[in-house]
Amino acid sequence: MSAHDFDVVVVGAGAAGIAATRALKSAGLAVVCVEASNRVGGRTHTDTEIFGVPFDMGAHWMHTEHVNALKAPGLALGLDLYAAPDNATTFGLEDDAVLWDEVDEIHGAINEAARIDAEIEASTGSPTDRSLADIWQNKGRWSFTAAMTFALSIARDLPDTSLRDISAWEGGDDWFCREGFGHLIACTAQGLPIKLATPVTEIKSLTDGVQITTATGKIKARTVVVTVSVGVLAEDIIHFDPPLESDRRSALELITMGDYNHAGLLFRPGALPVQPDTWLTYHLEPDANGIARGGGFLCNISNTGLTSFESSGSFSRQLQDAGPESAIEHALETLVGFFGTAVRKAFIKGHASAWRNEPYVRGSYAGASPGGHDKRAVLCKSHAERVHFAGEATHTSQQCSVSGAHLEGLRAAEDVLAQLR
Ligand SMILES: Cc1cc2nc3c(=O)[nH]c(=O)nc-3n(C[C@H](O)[C@H](O)[C@H](O)COP(=O)(O)OP(=O)(O)OC[C@H]3O[C@@H](n4cnc5c(N)ncnc54)[C@H](O)[C@@H]3O)c2cc1C
Repeated sequence: MSAHDFDVVVVGAGAAGIAATRALKSAGLAVVCVEASNRVGGRTHTDTEIFGVPFDMGAHWMHTEHVNALKAPGLALGLDLYAAPDNATTFGLEDDAVLWDEVDEIHGAINEAARIDAEIEASTGSPTDRSLADIWQNKGRWSFTAAMTFALSIARDLPDTSLRDISAWEGGDDWFCREGFGHLIACTAQGLPIKLATPVTEIKSLTDGVQITTATGKIKARTVVVTVSVGVLAEDIIHFDPPLESDRRSALELITMGDYNHAGLLFRPGALPVQPDTWLTYHLEPDANGIARGGGFLCNISNTGLTSFESSGSFSRQLQDAGPESAIEHALETLVGFFGTAVRKAFIKGHASAWRNEPYVRGSYAGASPGGHDKRAVLCKSHAERVHFAGEATHTSQQCSVSGAHLEGLRAAEDVLAQLR
């Protein structure tokens, strides 16, 4: 009789945990995935009840299509995947090139600053890195908006961004899944041994394995893969015995959860005079604290009538703290400012996400503060030999993404297989 209930316990059934569980099961190991909430998917979740059409509360964009690890599984599942149309538009800007020239210039500055910082670090051994706020120059009416195109997607304010982290991101074309990205991920979990509503409270290393304490009992296994967010780790929602090492603790101070939320607004057909799946941005100015009090709109998603207002950083947090009506009203009023009061008449209903309030997530995704990019490697290493980590935060070039989380789940499964063979 084995002293272990399983070879491997995977903690968390988000993109990383699902990928790890499938790989370990396919390799013939006895594996169970324990998930705190009552659904799979974590930060990918497609709701179809609120609006009657798919609403991605979390991830929606299948970034960097040429390396996106979920594209092939999505197509194999027969889902309707398609390239995001090249129709991004900026309200109030007659010549889009004005903005995109500034974006290109800032992108060049990010890469150059990151290169110089890396060279300085290599020669002195001391970490250097700067933020978007350090290099952004207020040159023209659209330069803050251009800088926000970077800060918005990484869910942080300009001073709290790492140029090294932005520079490391592998860019490319985006795709969408008509049924919802969350639906795609939930499909990939089908048939896997996942126990829902089973929050883990303690992970204890034993001489020959690990003991996982959950709300419904203890499980003994030879090893464990932990895929919870850095927000869950930083807030000690799971107790580790032995405790997490000091370098991982320091890393958790530099790789932290940002804020990003979707406010879905359902309109009657034809309410917004733009093509389906148009990414609509507009002029943003910093307030007295340097914060952009606005975001962007993904309009008429997959031609369903649903538009998503996407907010980021401190502003997103403020909207979230003020309650869902606040984000919905802000988004509606902004669209009325663009297209007139007919938009309000065509409005049916709204709903806003609040990811920092999710007890087993605690934010949107893990960005690096200046000096933090290299700490992703610290979060990735195993703890006390048998405790492995994976998730969006540990990928170094597809960080903050579903694809990165999935790939990290596969990497952790490989680490486990190498250890147990
Ligand atoms: C609003 C928003 C928009 C986004 N947009 C995009 C996008 O367009 N494209 C993109 O690629 N990415 C996007 N992302 C990021 C993407 O969703 C994440 O990077 C990815 O889903 C993270 O997967 P994960 O497996 O690492 O973590 P998670 O999805 O957080 O999975 C971890 C799981 O662990 C569970 N858990 C936590 N604590 C415990 C515990 N104690 N016991 C048991 N289980 C526990 C959680 O409930 C969760 O299910 C977005 C995120 C948000 C919030």
